[in-house]
Amino acid sequence: MSSVRNNFAARTVRVKAPGKINVSFRVGPLRPDGYHAVASLYLAVSLYEEVTATSTSASGVTVSIKGCSTAEAQRSGIPLDERNLAVRAALLMADVTERTTGVHLEITKRVPVSGGMGGGSADAAATLLACDALWDSGLAREELAHLAVELGADVPFALLGGAAVGLGVGELLTPALAPSPLHWVLVQADFGLSTPEVFGQLDRLRLASGAEPLDPGQVDPAVLQALRAGDAQALAPVLGNDLQPASLALAPQLAEVLDHGKQHGALASIVSGSGPTIALLAADEASASGLAQRLVAAGSSAQAVHGPVHGAKLVSDLVH
Ligand code: ATP
Repeated sequence: MSSVRNNFAARTVRVKAPGKINVSFRVGPLRPDGYHAVASLYLAVSLYEEVTATSTSASGVTVSIKGCSTAEAQRSGIPLDERNLAVRAALLMADVTERTTGVHLEITKRVPVSGGMGGGSADAAATLLACDALWDSGLAREELAHLAVELGADVPFALLGGAAVGLGVGELLTPALAPSPLHWVLVQADFGLSTPEVFGQLDRLRLASGAEPLDPGQVDPAVLQALRAGDAQALAPVLGNDLQPASLALAPQLAEVLDHGKQHGALASIVSGSGPTIALLAADEASASGLAQRLVAAGSSAQAVHGPVHGAKLVSDLVH
């Protein structure tokens, strides 16, 4: 109706982007810029955020969370202003493409907020791609990847997807071969952990122990080999996350979740990124689904996923 009245044809673009787990996460010393050098093996998993971007005749970027009132979103810790990574991504795209019309973003959240799975980064990556389509920006994928780096260390990977080694602060990506899916169970917590606080805790633990953090170097070749072979049994003993002791120090109850997963049949368990989500590695799809069922029956919030999966991807593009 409004399209007739205002001679403005709204267009709606829907994009989905995956959450990630860090199969291996080595953290080096604090750099002078306040970030840590890392060597990460990112794996995109089948838990997707979705961003629906609708062009508006008025300028500016607005955002809402599907199924959530403003108050509920704020209570869940999701900012609905320029602090929201999706809003920042749209503003950046508007700036680069010199847009004067606006966009409304509706985010469907599935990745746990402050869960260590890069949900906000996935929203940002999905928004970059959505605005690229919405505004026919004609930017090359590499140009979008450059914009992603400006938004955050995990945003380029959410755009790329698959499996990849991330160096620098995680933004220098090299795709890794992972031809067969690996099966995981994610156990979500009913609280979040702040990524900067977890890194800060790691620094304090290292200071207290007198251990000089080493340059993170490269991802353990055994991890790359196991991924290439699609071999969960070989991957299990080489999963590793330097942030795990810091997450456990801040949330000691996670130790029980890690143990619980193994008692219920996981090959290995690890804190995902800065946590508190726990990733349990399963031998195959049937084992993952059985493990998830047993954990749900025992009262956990668990779900089976697989990875690698694709990065940010257009789902639909509609003019109305
Ligand atoms: P990180 O990517 O920093 O490791 P995370 O994966 O643990 O973080 P996210 O859910 O991505 O957790 O969000 C971390 C913080 O970023 C939240 O506490 C929130 O304040 C802010 N944030 C900004 N944009 C978003 C968004 N679109 N969705 C959720 N949180 C967001």
